[in-house]
Amino acid sequence: MEMKNIKKVLIANRGEIAVRIMRSCREMGIHTVAVFSDADRTALHVRYAGEAYHIGAAPSAESYLNIEKIIEVAKLSKSEAIHPGYGFLSENATFSRRCREEGIIFIGPSPEAIEGMGDKITARKTMIAAGVPVVPGTTEKVSTEDEALNIIAEIGLPVMIKASAGGGGKGMRLVKKESDIVSSLRAARSEAKSAFGDDSIYIEKYIESPHHIEFQVLADRFGNTVHLFERECSVQRRHQKVVEETPSPVMTPEVRKIMGDYAVAAAKAVNYEGAGTIEFIMDDNLNFYFLEMNTRLQVEHPITERVVGVDLVKEQIRIADGRALPFRQEDLHQTGHAIECRIYAEDTDNNFMPNPGTITHITEPHGLGIRCDGYVYPGYTIPIYYDPMISKLIVWDKSRQEAISRMKRALYEYKITGVKTSIKFLERIMDAVEFREGRYNTHFIENNLKYLLSDTECDMYCEDLALIATYIEHKEKIEKIEQTISPATVRHGSDWKHYGRRYGSLRL
Ligand code: ADP
Ligand code: ADP
Ligand code: MG
Repeated sequence: MEMKNIKKVLIANRGEIAVRIMRSCREMGIHTVAVFSDADRTALHVRYAGEAYHIGAAPSAESYLNIEKIIEVAKLSKSEAIHPGYGFLSENATFSRRCREEGIIFIGPSPEAIEGMGDKITARKTMIAAGVPVVPGTTEKVSTEDEALNIIAEIGLPVMIKASAGGGGKGMRLVKKESDIVSSLRAARSEAKSAFGDDSIYIEKYIESPHHIEFQVLADRFGNTVHLFERECSVQRRHQKVVEETPSPVMTPEVRKIMGDYAVAAAKAVNYEGAGTIEFIMDDNLNFYFLEMNTRLQVEHPITERVVGVDLVKEQIRIADGRALPFRQEDLHQTGHAIECRIYAEDTDNNFMPNPGTITHITEPHGLGIRCDGYVYPGYTIPIYYDPMISKLIVWDKSRQEAISRMKRALYEYKITGVKTSIKFLERIMDAVEFREGRYNTHFIENNLKYLLSDTECDMYCEDLALIATYIEHKEKIEKIEQTISPATVRHGSDWKHYGRRYGSLRL
C-alpha cells in the first residue's frame, strides 16, 4: 500500500529493534535513515539502512538521547517521520512534541498521551476515572510518613513502594514488616530522586504469587481501538522479563474478553493513537489490576505478531500516516502458540553479569516456526554502553507443548562463541516442571534458581537432531583448529570482568 506522507523514516534507535523496524520499512517501500554513535560505526542497523548519520559519542546521553541532533538529521535527510523503537526516546513526551513542532511525524503517541501514561500516579488516576481496576493503594503522591502509615493500615502489608517515574524494573521496594516501613519509604524516595530525577512515590498492595499479563492495543485516529490479546510475561528476573508467551497458560476465554475490553477502555481514556501495551498484574484467582501502560512498541511484540498475524510496525507506520486500521476487533484471533526468549550476553553463573565482547562465531537456529530478531554477526563487538541483549528468539507451533519443544530445539541449535550468553539458562527454563506445566508466576526464576543454574545435562532430545548436533560439533572442531593456526582470531582475556562492572544493567 502506497503511503500518503511517509516515504522516508529515520529510526532513532540501534540494535535488533532498529533492524526489525527497517525490515518492515523495506517491505513497504519506505526509505530508511539510521543514526549511530561512535560505538556503532560497524553496527548492523547502520549497514542495513539506506543512509546513516553519525550523531555523537558512545554514551546514549550524547547520541541516542540527543533530541535536537536527531531532529537535525531528520531534516537534513528529508525524513518525513521518526520511529523511536523502544527505550531511549520512545516514551519521551518532549521528543514527541519537538517532532510535532518541526512538522515531523512521530511514529508513536502524542506528547499528551505519553504524559498521561508515563507518570504512574497520573496513569492510576486516569484509569480509576475510566473504570479500569488498579492495584489497591494511594491515588496521590505519598509525601509524609503518616500518609504512608495510614494507607498501609488500610490495605495491609505487604506493599510495594513505587517511584511514579520508575521503569525498567527499577524504583520498586517490597515492604513486608511494619518495622521496615519508615526506612523503606526514605530509601525509596532517595532512590527515585537519584535514578529518575523525581522523588514522587506511591504505595500499592503487593499481589502475592502474581502473573504479569499484558494486552497489546492498536488505535487509529478514526476511533477504532482494538486489542491483540494477551502476553504472559511472568518469567522475570528482578522484575524484568526473560521469557514471554502467548496465549497465557492461565488465561480463560471469559477473563480474556473482560481484560481485553478494559485494555481498549484504558487506551481510549487517553485518546491513544498507535501501538501500546496495557500491563496488568493478576493473582491466582484471576483477579487482575492495571499496572501501567507502555506507550511504545514492546520488546516482546513478535509473539503477538505471530499468533495474531499482524505486523505491528507496519500498523504503527500506517496509523502515523493517517490511515485507518484494516481490521476490527471481531477480525482478530489467536492461532497456535508463540514463545520468545531474550538472549543476553551475560554470565548467568556470575550473577548475570553483562558480558559484552566480540562474537567469534554464531549459528542461528532455522527451520519451521522460528524467528530470530538479532543484530550481531561474527567479528562484531557488542558495545559496553548499551543493553546486552543479543537477540530475541521467537518460535511458533500449534500448541504450547509443541512450541516448548520447538524452542528447546532452536536453543539447542543456537551457537554463539566469544561471549557468554543466557542460552543454557533458557534451555533449563524450558525444561523446568513449573514452566512446562504452565503453572508459574513472577517468582518462578528466584524459586528455581538452583535448578536453572545447575550443570546437569538437560533431559530429552529428539533423536533426529543428532545429525545437526554432529554437524555443529564438526564445525566447532574445525574452528578450534583454525584458531590454533591463526592466533589473531583468538579472543584475548583482557579486562573482561572490568567491562562488565562498568556496564549499566538497564534492561529493555
Ligand atoms: P518492558 O515492559 O518492555 O520490559 P518496562 O515497562 O520495564 O518495559 O520499561 C522499560 C523500558 O522503558 C525500557 O525500554 C527502558 O529503557 C525504558 N525506561 C523506562 N523508564 C525509564 C527511565 N526512567 N529511565 C530510562 N529508561 C527507562
Ligand atoms: P516497570 O515500569 O519497571 O516495568 P511495573 O509496574 O510494570 O514496573 O512492574 C514490573 C514488575 O514488577 C511486574 O511485572 C511484577 O513482576 C512486579 N510488580 C509490580 N507491581 C507489583 C505489585 N503490586 N505486586 C506484585 N508484583 C508487582
Ligand atoms: Mg512494566
